Amino acid sequence: MTTATTDVRDNLTQADAEARAARVRHCDYTLDLQLTRGAETYRGVASLRFDAAGAGDLFLDFRGKTIELLEVNGSKVEPRWNGFRLWLPGEALAASNTVRVVYENEYDHEGDGFHQFKDPEDGEEYLYSNFEPYESHRLFPQFDQPDIKGTYALSVTAPAEWVVLHNSRAASVSDADGSKRWEFEQTKPFSTYLFALVVGPYHEARDRHGDIDIGLFCRKSLAKHLDTGELFELTKQGLTFFSDFFDFPYPFGKYDQVFVPEFNAGAMENVGLVTHNEYMVFRDPPTDNQRRGRAETLLHEMAHMWFGDLVTMRWWNDLWLNESFATYMSYLCLEKATRFTTGWQDFAVSIKNWAYRQDQLVTTHPIAGQVADTDQTFLNFDGITYGKGASVLKQLVAAIGADGFREGMRHYFRTHAYGNATLAQFLESLEKGSGADLQDWARLWLETPSLNTIGSRWEADGDRITSFTLTQAAPDEYPTIRPHTLEVGLVRDLDGKLEVTVLPASIRDTEAELPEARGLPAPDLVFPNYNDHGYAKIALDPASIAFIRGNMERIDDDLLRLQLWASLWNMVRDQQLKSTDFLALVRTKMVLETMPEAVEAVTNNAIAAIGRYVPDEWRDREAHDFAQAAWAALKAASSNDLQIIWARALIATASVAEDLDLIGRLADGAESVPGFTVDQDMRWNIAVKHVAYGVAGAAARVQAESERDPSDRGVRARLRAETAVPDAAAKAAAWEKVLGEGYGSLALTEAAMMGFNWVEQRDLLAPYVEGFFDKVTEVFRNRDKEFASYFYRFMAPSYLVERDIYERGEQLVAAVGDELPVLVRMAREANDDLLRAIRCREFAAS
Ligand SMILES: [Zn+2]
Repeated sequence: MTTATTDVRDNLTQADAEARAARVRHCDYTLDLQLTRGAETYRGVASLRFDAAGAGDLFLDFRGKTIELLEVNGSKVEPRWNGFRLWLPGEALAASNTVRVVYENEYDHEGDGFHQFKDPEDGEEYLYSNFEPYESHRLFPQFDQPDIKGTYALSVTAPAEWVVLHNSRAASVSDADGSKRWEFEQTKPFSTYLFALVVGPYHEARDRHGDIDIGLFCRKSLAKHLDTGELFELTKQGLTFFSDFFDFPYPFGKYDQVFVPEFNAGAMENVGLVTHNEYMVFRDPPTDNQRRGRAETLLHEMAHMWFGDLVTMRWWNDLWLNESFATYMSYLCLEKATRFTTGWQDFAVSIKNWAYRQDQLVTTHPIAGQVADTDQTFLNFDGITYGKGASVLKQLVAAIGADGFREGMRHYFRTHAYGNATLAQFLESLEKGSGADLQDWARLWLETPSLNTIGSRWEADGDRITSFTLTQAAPDEYPTIRPHTLEVGLVRDLDGKLEVTVLPASIRDTEAELPEARGLPAPDLVFPNYNDHGYAKIALDPASIAFIRGNMERIDDDLLRLQLWASLWNMVRDQQLKSTDFLALVRTKMVLETMPEAVEAVTNNAIAAIGRYVPDEWRDREAHDFAQAAWAALKAASSNDLQIIWARALIATASVAEDLDLIGRLADGAESVPGFTVDQDMRWNIAVKHVAYGVAGAAARVQAESERDPSDRGVRARLRAETAVPDAAAKAAAWEKVLGEGYGSLALTEAAMMGFNWVEQRDLLAPYVEGFFDKVTEVFRNRDKEFASYFYRFMAPSYLVERDIYERGEQLVAAVGDELPVLVRMAREANDDLLRAIRCREFAAS
């Protein structure tokens, strides 16, 4: 028996992966797992057949507890293993090999690896795997890299009441000594990070689409909330749409989707067995925005079955393409095949703004770049990878046409099915499909960071345009000028009615004439990114700004109105519009708005403005004014969705006694609005807020909510309340426990961290400002990346918008140097954000 002891990092470099891929071919894995109820460990026997070329040792990736036996080609070999790398001696290898490993391993509790969860409501145990990018070898020994695909033949022995789910269908289920033995069909070849195993007494719902079996699963205690009707419908709509669009039938036989507890991401595209975060099982009545968001995630994962799973990137440097493509395709599918026909509006608000924001940070980077090792992959699940990449694909489709894009994709799947492909091969397919030369486009859009600003300049003689010029600028640090294919919207106020004239336009240089505009009536508002094809900041001219400040609610084009609100928000962030002026505009105009997407996006901006961009001494006043506006809007709201969105905004901004009292009375039913119910999530937020602000009766409120909601969500909320208590001893205990043994799982510890910092408790929290900077390096050095990034996100003193904190952050970045890239990236972004907030506050006060 070999037990792992190591302090070296489990990290795979591209160089090692390339060297290994050059030697290894045709992997067939056979895996047999023994799972028992309530155990801390599980046992496995893994066999791997593969062809090897070249000479010398090879390594398998395996992060386990103990190896009991290692056999190479039938001979027992003493394992040479550092806890994550298991070496196969070159002299034992042949052209064709069989390796057999008998091992024991511990369950994981951080949401990655093979995660174990115990439901506090009914005591049931649930297991699931989560492996991207480099965690699959926490379940069994393997070549854990995307370009060594394998087939898998899995058997699992598990308690009789448990369901066992895998990427392929179960071929047989038989009795085995009071347990059940599940044997699965051998899978098609796919990458190790897409392997999945989900086990436990999951609730199951079934349907069928053509010859594809569809399953939906969630914990038993959530079954009452699982709305299978909408989920099955979307699944079928997506399967039909993607099969047709790609002209390639769904490749993996069956399609299961499981909602799993304590999941770190939104969802994961495991082949034929997608795992979804449980926030997509709606325990409270959702808004349609939430339903659309869920549909988008569902379709995003489904698009990956083709792009990512059937054809996979060779290495993690093309992760961006994987995510951009799935994101773009999911919105296209939403619009073309589902009831959520306004998907692109959501894209403009959420995906694009995420990208714009990330692209203006000091840490911005080209879409396509180098990823030296799997640790660096972690850094790249960001707004550039998902948001900018997808926005740039949308811009590309505007340039080459939808048909050329579709033909290119068909070529891509025909050519590379069940294999790997690179960005160059993707572009080659698109060039074949569209006939366009994309080399320049790729260089300018994919290999350079940052974004352009597009504006307009025009002159009129009387009421007619005499000249119209589009302008393009780039920041000094990133002077790239790019080709943009756009539509320009000219808005005129015609006797009380607004009319939009739309002109196609393109710009490749710093200026482009738009001769079609000559002779048209002079506009009151010019918007150079009408229909949102472009990826660029839009500079509005002063006359247009004055017009929208007075007339925003009259613009009846929903997407345009959303884009204009987004432009105003960008102006706040760039210190061209005072945060207080923006908030005043929101209070007067947004209460008239009936589009939930707009209300949700803009109230979220307003909440951020109050927290970050308003000087400390004005914050209570601004928060109170906004909360009162939200309360008025809640009472006047014309739909239940608007009621929910305004109620959330009210609870988020309530911070003076009068408003805290109001939300308490709403929760207690002493105050009410017809047609509106305070849901459990809101009740928890109110209870936690009352605790943090020291409102009388807060502890009793938490107790009452705990009795009302004994679920895992209730447990997490109670932890938030526990660490929110404004008391030095409570803070000290929480600090120690977060950094020490934790709260039982990463999700529980995260909940405890979320309750810790409150700007109103700044005096009480003073010791933990320096405490954070003292500890953070050690945390990033010694703890796993997920924990470390939660620690940064929730325990950093980000509630202090002050120069001292900025200086301290700069010292941290300088001290850490190259040692911890994830920490340096987070610290630089936090500081960049802080500097922006300081400037916005100074501008507001000027
Ligand atoms: Zn994805």
